[in-house]
Order: sequence, then C-alpha cells, then structure tokens
Amino acid sequence: MPWFVRENKGINTPTELKRETPDGLWYQCPECKTVVLTKAHKENAYTCMSCNYHEQIGSEEYFGLLFDNGEFEELFPDLQSADPLEFEDTKKYPDRLKASISKTGMKDAVRVATGQMEGERLVIACMDFKFIGGSMGSVVGEKISRGIKEARITGVPFIMISKSGGARMMEAGFSLMQMAKTSAQLALLSEAKLPYISILTDPTTGGVTASFAMLGDFNIAEPKALIGFAGPRVVRETIGKDLPEGFQSAEFVLEHGFLDSIVDRKNMKETLSDLLRMVKI
Ligand SMILES: [Zn+2]
Repeated sequence: MPWFVRENKGINTPTELKRETPDGLWYQCPECKTVVLTKAHKENAYTCMSCNYHEQIGSEEYFGLLFDNGEFEELFPDLQSADPLEFEDTKKYPDRLKASISKTGMKDAVRVATGQMEGERLVIACMDFKFIGGSMGSVVGEKISRGIKEARITGVPFIMISKSGGARMMEAGFSLMQMAKTSAQLALLSEAKLPYISILTDPTTGGVTASFAMLGDFNIAEPKALIGFAGPRVVRETIGKDLPEGFQSAEFVLEHGFLDSIVDRKNMKETLSDLLRMVKI
C-alpha cells in the first residue's frame, strides 16, 4: 500500500491537544517583513531590529518607555467632549465619540500624566492616533493646556508627544481655538523659564503642527515621521508644482530648519533627560 493513502478516516484531534501559537506572540515588520517575538519588539522600543522601522504607538506605550518603571499618575482622565455644533457627517458626532470610547477605552485623543523620568519630575502629554485620528478637539486642547499649566504651577518641564491628523472637523472653530489656547499656555510656561520639549511622531499634521508641536524649546522628531501642515495633494494643487522627493518626512523637515534633531526612539528617554539636565537652572 502506498504510504500516502489515508488508512483511517475522520481523524479528529481534540481541541486540548491542538498546539496553536498564542495570538500576538509574533510581530511582523510592515516595512521589511522581518518576524520577531512581540516581547523582543517591545524591548526594542517598538522599533524593527533589522530596518529600524518605528511602529506607531500610543500614550500607554510612550508612558511605559519614558516614565521610570512605567509609573505615572494620569491627570484629568475624565474630560469628555460635548457636541456644541450638533455635528453630523456619516455618523452623528456623539455616536462617533461613543464608538471611539468603547473601541479604545480612552475618553479622547490625548492623555496627560505626571511622573519621574530619570528621577526628575515632569508632565508628559501624549496623543493617541487611534482615537478619531488623533484629532484635536476642545478636550484635547483643554487637557494639553491644563497639562502645561500643571507643569508651570509645580515648576517642572513639559513634554508633548504629538501624533495627529490635525484639528477635529466635527468641532470646527472650537478645534481651531485650541491652537491659540495651547500656544498661550506655552508662552506662560516660557515666561516661567520652564523647558518645553516637543516630540513629533508619525504623523504630525494640520493644526497640531501649526501650534504646539512646532513651539518646543527643542523640536525633536522620530525617524521618517510624516510631518507637515496640509497633505501633499493640497500643497501641489495650491502651488501648482511637483513636490520634491521625501517631502514632509522628518529628514526633509530637519534639513530645511524646522526641527532641531531626529532621535531614535530607543535613545529618546536618555536624550530627553540629557537635554533637561542641560537647561536646568
Ligand atoms: Zn523592519
């Protein structure tokens, strides 16, 4: 009898004997397709070991990377958006908010926290792209403003990690007002001679780029982050010219003088601590 003929039909392996890889054990880099253990990827600050691709991460991961032992106290966690314009596109705005809240477990697109970094207390605000594209509505602006104020009152540095599609269209003018509000708070922080470091991650665009993201005493980007104001298509149509290669990448923006440096996420905590020590009075 040839070996490939099945002798017994209907063999079933009971579920408890099936050996399956647990979900989420492996991470595949979307750039170079290298596969590594999720744990190893996390230990490498969520960057690819072979091509250095920086995975997009959120506030939970950044707080874990920057605060000592991942310990921090979250500030103003309960602020939630209203619907001042009774806005409706494909969905009613309150329904969109509700869906995002239940999907992400967050109340809005930014989290603010205080804790220690290399033993020094500071306030960090970090945006979450998965909440309506990291868009800045009144709650995002308010939380950032209060975070800056908290830093000023307690006399500690402020760090902002931006990741945003820009102002939130569902709050229209109210979103745009956040640009002025956050900038005014930063001016007061500057008057109090407290340092502000802005970290621009992939992507940082629109009203966020046009306000607090570019106002840092140090403006630092992650490698290859998309940084810009309007999208390439809008810019092309407005100026009527083809855009140069790599336009709106962190590297291009650095070369044209809008950034101070590009820092690998693996060195971010050390670099930030060094900079803060350098400017400490
Ligand atoms: Zn890779």
